[in-house]
Amino acid sequence: MERLNACTVTDAPGLEHVLLKHDQIQRLEAEFGSSFYILDVNKLRENYRKINTAFKSRYENFIIGYSYKTNYLPYLCKELSNLGAYAEVVSRLEYDLALKIGEDPKRIIFNGPLKTMDDINLALTNNSILNIDSLYEIDFVKRFASKNPEVEVPVGLRVNFEISQNGVSALQEGYKYSRFGICVNNGNLEHALTELRSMENIRIVGLHGHFSTKNRSLESYKIITQNLCTLAKENILDSLEYIDIGGGIYGELPKPYDMLVPAFDDYAETICGIMNTEFGDFHKKPLLILEPGVAMVANVFLFAAKVIESKRIRNDYFVLVDGSVHNVKPTMHKNNLPMKIVRQEHDPSEEKQTFHIVGYTCMEKDYLASEIKGRLPMKDDYIIFENVGAYTIVFNPPFIKERPGIVAMDHPEFTAARKKETIRQFFNEEIYVF
Ligand SMILES: *Cc1c(COP(=O)(O)O)cnc(C)c1O
Repeated sequence: MERLNACTVTDAPGLEHVLLKHDQIQRLEAEFGSSFYILDVNKLRENYRKINTAFKSRYENFIIGYSYKTNYLPYLCKELSNLGAYAEVVSRLEYDLALKIGEDPKRIIFNGPLKTMDDINLALTNNSILNIDSLYEIDFVKRFASKNPEVEVPVGLRVNFEISQNGVSALQEGYKYSRFGICVNNGNLEHALTELRSMENIRIVGLHGHFSTKNRSLESYKIITQNLCTLAKENILDSLEYIDIGGGIYGELPKPYDMLVPAFDDYAETICGIMNTEFGDFHKKPLLILEPGVAMVANVFLFAAKVIESKRIRNDYFVLVDGSVHNVKPTMHKNNLPMKIVRQEHDPSEEKQTFHIVGYTCMEKDYLASEIKGRLPMKDDYIIFENVGAYTIVFNPPFIKERPGIVAMDHPEFTAARKKETIRQFFNEEIYVF
């Protein structure tokens, strides 16, 4: 392992520490097998600090609610909690995980379209931040409020409004309407407000507006923030405590792609600019909540997979690795991730080939990367895929093989954040019948 060859060259601070030490990577292989994720803990801290500083320096009353669903590795959630992030959860499973890692329930934001009466009772009893997504939840809130007449019951509402620009849908997949939240345009918001206000002890304290947009553009955030502020002022000004603009912002991309997307400062300038205009002269400014997922974690995970063989089929080379497309891009998009090849042996030949990196499953479409031009990786080399922290390990289990381990790299320490799975854990005897 004398050289680190970059296929798509990126800066990955910390990466060199792992890869340049032959004994280190061997030790990891001995413990975790020939494919595993690496969590770069320092990168995670850096992302938190950068996002927080960009917003807080422009609008003081600001918090980050980390979107658990993007990557709910307990080790990672705990680290973010220690840094100061709230937990943004969209199911009871995630809510309970937040409690399990020791999160203060007051610092849990409970969103999502599906909540049972029991979920809502728990969230309200615990004084968590609760955002109602649909009208059916109002009944649960009212029942809680009538059972606890002496308690003030604060709730937020996720609202649904038009965000298209010049008649073109801004939503992912080009959907005409978002399916989430309470519709502002058809009278449902008014209905919700009336229903909730029918009980004296319910207070509507915040509005939430998360949208999954195609291009995560500043223009979308302008529309979202402005709408939330206007709606809040028109409808809940007396009780307003927070404006929650959801997540969906871009994280830092490797060069040269970083030039193509807004930076944290650009988002903060747009969003905080509107908040300051709307609430600048307020004695008590509402809290601004941002719920980043991708932006916080995409670039903090690497996936290392060992090369098993490079073979030629007619004119193309296929590099088989101990990994699968499911490990690096479960959505199977066609773009190659940034990656590095760690070569076992020094090979002076600089001959370039075109090759594809393919996985262990029996699916034809199991390509971790395709059409790469460079020196062919050989048996026992490693391929390190970068930017695999978002929406990867949460889509589990992978097909055909057990889940790989996750190593937390907090230089100079390496610790297991998740061990390699065994058959007993994969086919858990408490739930499967044999
Ligand atoms: C998924 C989700 C997020 C995070 O979205 P990213 O695109 O990963 O930043 C934030 N808030 C809510 C309500 C979500 O559903």
